[in-house]
Amino acid sequence: MWGLFENTSDTQDVTKIIKAFFTEQDTASQWREYALCSQTNPMAFFPDKGGSTKDAKNVCTNCVVKAECLEYALTNDIRFGIWGGKSERERRRFKKEEEAANIGVAS
Ligand code: SF4
Repeated sequence: MWGLFENTSDTQDVTKIIKAFFTEQDTASQWREYALCSQTNPMAFFPDKGGSTKDAKNVCTNCVVKAECLEYALTNDIRFGIWGGKSERERRRFKKEEEAANIGVAS
């Protein structure tokens, strides 16, 4: 299902994905039960290109599963939306920094 996240900007697709995200049950993703964004407007986490991410990021700041959410987005290479308080660009930068740090540790 998460392949749907790639190359989609259609609002209806995003809405379906968001609904699936909050209703799909599996033990590896039980953290989603604590997702603070489930109590807000989920569309705020998928702003149009150039749209504000401020409100979504403010919600993430107080979310108890922020780390799990970010890890999930990084692991699944999710390319749009705010996850773990970071935009797609910020996640890419974070991932590069993590990889660089891991290379430094390994050598
Ligand atoms: S960190 Fe943000 S996007 Fe992730 S579950 Fe929490 S509120 Fe939702």
